[in-house]
Amino acid sequence: MYVLSPSVTIPFAEALAAARAGVVTPEAAGVLIRARAGAECDSLLAAAARRRDELKGRRITYSKKVFIPLTNLCRDYCGYCTFRKDPGQAGAHTMTPDEVIAVAEAGARLGCKEALFSLGDRPEAIFPEMRERLRQLGHRTTLGYLAEMCGRVLNETGLLPHANPGLMGRKDLERLREFNASMGLMLEATSERLTAAGMPHDRAPDKRPALRLKTIEEAGRLRIPFTTGILIGIGETLDERVDALFAIRRLHDRYGHIQEVIVQNFRAKPDIPMRLHREPSVDEHATTLAVARLILRDMNVQAPPNLSDEKYPSLLRAGLNDWGGISPLTIDFINPEKPWPHIASLAERTAAEGYELSERLSVYPEYVYRDEFIDARLAPRVRAMANEGGLA
Ligand code: SF4
Repeated sequence: MYVLSPSVTIPFAEALAAARAGVVTPEAAGVLIRARAGAECDSLLAAAARRRDELKGRRITYSKKVFIPLTNLCRDYCGYCTFRKDPGQAGAHTMTPDEVIAVAEAGARLGCKEALFSLGDRPEAIFPEMRERLRQLGHRTTLGYLAEMCGRVLNETGLLPHANPGLMGRKDLERLREFNASMGLMLEATSERLTAAGMPHDRAPDKRPALRLKTIEEAGRLRIPFTTGILIGIGETLDERVDALFAIRRLHDRYGHIQEVIVQNFRAKPDIPMRLHREPSVDEHATTLAVARLILRDMNVQAPPNLSDEKYPSLLRAGLNDWGGISPLTIDFINPEKPWPHIASLAERTAAEGYELSERLSVYPEYVYRDEFIDARLAPRVRAMANEGGLA
């Protein structure tokens, strides 16, 4: 990790000029990310948007997906999470194979191409009830059950699974790679401080930054197109936010596998421990997105439109080039009170900002035709769903 020195001060104009020329140091990014409403902020956003236009053109992508919350039991207790449940708690559920296939089939009928598996992290590690449930399902681990369901969804419905199950070891990644053209794990933050008592990750052993970086690195070694990202506004400092973006860039520089970086904003919900915690403003989100674009260069930068309410099109001015997975069928189980915009409306509002909305697969176009990045058994199926440019 970089250690940012608070004593280093670079004039904003100098930091921005260097960024426009393609050079962003952690110190300069620390200056840029502090821009707020006004001329500095406008010039930062304009520089990021210009960079996006140069590198990505006028196309903004999304993936048509169904969300499959395989289990909402989780051994972690993140302070901002409304998804997780304990066994016996109202709403606690582990999906049966029939339920999984039914959701995937319904999605396939609506033209979805992606089955996003999101689930709690290793619930069997602390809940005997989950160990028993897995035994009934013929598995010892949640990741084993996940692999079986990814295989079945792929083979029985044709949807491409994209697994997002928390920390994974090399063997888990190898097994899942057979059925997943892409996978994901949010880095969220590189700040160890957030794991201290009273902080959002103090009861979340799977949120230790070093462990998350290890999983992302292992995915790089295995050449798995990988989605990651940061969660902003959970108590990290602005310099820590910059540090996390540089950590992602370094991994991508080494392995070339980070297909997408999400800049997700914390939203307060009435039923979470952090319900009174301040949410980042749209301006703050936009500034962070702009700095992410400048640090991450030609990598794909995403923000979920449903977490910015009606103001989401303004984020296009900060340099993102993807809206993430949009479901015509299932709600966002992680943020159930925030409905996704209808795809037609998303296309219209994207066009109103001067951009064209295009559907991609769960795996980004850059990776679709690269043999080293997709399992040989999976590649023909992925390519049959893609056009010449690798889009859906
Ligand atoms: S955010 Fe993920 S790891 Fe944290 S409690 Fe929720 S489901 Fe578990």
